[in-house]
Amino acid sequence: MKIPFVTFRPMERELEDDLRAGFERVFTKSQYIGGTENEKFERAFAKYCTARYCVGCGNGLDALMLALRALGIGEGDEVLVPSNTYIATALAVTYVGAKPIFVEPDIRTFNIDCTRIEEKITDRTKAMIPVHLYGQPCDMQPIMDIAARCRLKVVEDCAQAHGAVYHGRAVGAFGDVAGFSFYPGKNLGALGDAGAIVTDHEEIAAKVRALGNYGSDYKYHHIYKGNNSRLDELQAAFLLAKLPLLDRMNEERRRIAGRYLFEIHHPEIILPYVLPGTIPVWHIFGIRCARADALEKYLSEAGIGTGKHYPVPMHLQECYRDLGITEGELPIAEEISRTELSLPMYYGMTEQEVSYVIEKINGFN
Ligand SMILES: *Cc1c(COP(=O)(O)O)cnc(C)c1O
Repeated sequence: MKIPFVTFRPMERELEDDLRAGFERVFTKSQYIGGTENEKFERAFAKYCTARYCVGCGNGLDALMLALRALGIGEGDEVLVPSNTYIATALAVTYVGAKPIFVEPDIRTFNIDCTRIEEKITDRTKAMIPVHLYGQPCDMQPIMDIAARCRLKVVEDCAQAHGAVYHGRAVGAFGDVAGFSFYPGKNLGALGDAGAIVTDHEEIAAKVRALGNYGSDYKYHHIYKGNNSRLDELQAAFLLAKLPLLDRMNEERRRIAGRYLFEIHHPEIILPYVLPGTIPVWHIFGIRCARADALEKYLSEAGIGTGKHYPVPMHLQECYRDLGITEGELPIAEEISRTELSLPMYYGMTEQEVSYVIEKINGFN
């Protein structure tokens, strides 16, 4: 049996007619930037996130960066980010001229360790970006308590967590503003690059919209030195076609994850831990194993694709050498990057495929 790490085929087959209809609507109108698809998607996605406003952007990195800019974060400021995340979280901070300060994750949840946030706060700290990594909600209650006490802005990075729930509420509804990515492989993915912010604050929404449109609030009048980062009308049409399937796609990921959690039994494998009160959406099903490389090779020989999220932690990346953080300083992020292995997880994965992955993993020696 051959099982890819991820495939879009089952989703594409199911939504083919709707996606083509979306293309037809845009093509017929010849309106490619800004239009009714954008308006409809923003309204629908805000509602989905129980937020008052949604503003489409070019991608998830821009969504985070524009959110930080809208909050007035810039030169001389520090922003707390988890030491275990995709590099876009830190790059968004760098792009606005601020400095990312890494906070170690909880090794069980892979998410920011709330007990280690305060030791990193200085008088330059202006904001933090909790990342709902792998589709697991961060512990938002203590995070928001610290933010209130220390007067920090909170930008949620929801790029991997569309529809994940923390104590009855979808992520993205807790911070001042949240950034989403609709990169094709995300739980809600476009057919290209796309992103959005959601917020309850009218002034943040308006500022992000202006910043992403050359800093213009009115045609040819520029109040900020903005960026060009708008949501493509075609991508908005595709996202509008896919949004109604999101809950079902997430439900299917939970079914697969449920079987992995229940049926994988191996003394060398540590399964992901679900924080009580949360409903994850399993963007990534990450296990840990001291012999992750051997396990990866063994699964590959059995025809099973896997991923690593992420093989090199941010502080050891070439581009962040200037931060001067050396190996050993963020040992938990390093331990995760050494031991994490992501199992196949996609809408349309059959019971037989899941069984095969489980059987092979249990037979690893
Ligand atoms: C994908 C991702 C982003 C960036 O999204 P893009 O659309 O690729 O720019 C940001 N943060 C996290 C955690 C991500 O996984």
